[in-house]
Amino acid sequence: MTTALVTHSACLYHETPPGHPESADRLRAVLHALDDKAFAALAREEAPPAAREELARVHPTFYIDAVLNAVPERGYASLDPDTHVSPGSGDAALRAAGALVAGVDRVMSGKVQNAFCAVRPPGHHAEPTRAMGFCLFNNVAVGALHARARHGLKKIAVVDFDVHHGNGTQVMFEEDEALFFASTHQMPLYPGTGRVHERGRALNIHNRPLDPGDGSHEFRQAWDNTLLPALDVFGPDFVFISAGFDAHRRDPLANLNLTEADFAWVTEKVCAIAKARCAGRVVSTLEGGYDLKALADSSVAHVKALMAA
Ligand SMILES: [Zn+2]
Repeated sequence: MTTALVTHSACLYHETPPGHPESADRLRAVLHALDDKAFAALAREEAPPAAREELARVHPTFYIDAVLNAVPERGYASLDPDTHVSPGSGDAALRAAGALVAGVDRVMSGKVQNAFCAVRPPGHHAEPTRAMGFCLFNNVAVGALHARARHGLKKIAVVDFDVHHGNGTQVMFEEDEALFFASTHQMPLYPGTGRVHERGRALNIHNRPLDPGDGSHEFRQAWDNTLLPALDVFGPDFVFISAGFDAHRRDPLANLNLTEADFAWVTEKVCAIAKARCAGRVVSTLEGGYDLKALADSSVAHVKALMAA
């Protein structure tokens, strides 16, 4: 079985002000890299817009309306100091979340083994009622709760190796013992959450902050010693990956020293647990990654690992 690549051109029309690191060039770089003949076997699929009830599993409807109503007819509007919307942002945000829903449905259909959602805006900082950190809707949480509501799966895991802590996903998961969240991230760094003692209601949250300057060894130790065993013990019915590539040593927003080989490694490890626990059901989604070359190379390594799983 192959891997699905779920994306939509609308995600290129969420524009950010000049000089903003979260630009459409990021997605162009990823899609260009995945255009290579090495990826001919990918099942390419257009992301549908998320339905209102799909978003409403994680965001109250007043918040959904507030985000969509903030979209300007021209220029930009700001939802927080880092997070902006342009005329194309509404469709982009709906399709970024909808990509996760489509990815889940494709995997559950048995036609693909797993899926990578190449989308923007990213999602893991978005809290139930708060856009922040370049994120509007929490795409991965929308996918996770869709897997549970639509497909009757009980235990859903999100693993997050973006260099920033996925505060939004943690907030949505920390009260629900059937959800699992594991993250490595640099600390101190935006958004400031993700300490080891943040464990959630049923000890279902697992944070392993890394120090500035840490690299492959510390990253792999955190996953090997703590996070991957915790994922295995949890016994997920479906695994999601918040795949941010900004822990790469070339990234301008952070100070970790990973390479694309580290992203391939953690992807292989997560897929191996998914294979043992839940027939290999994995949906990954793009979060951060702000050096275009590192982002393209890391996406290639990540998707190759998904295809080999
Ligand atoms: Zn990030």
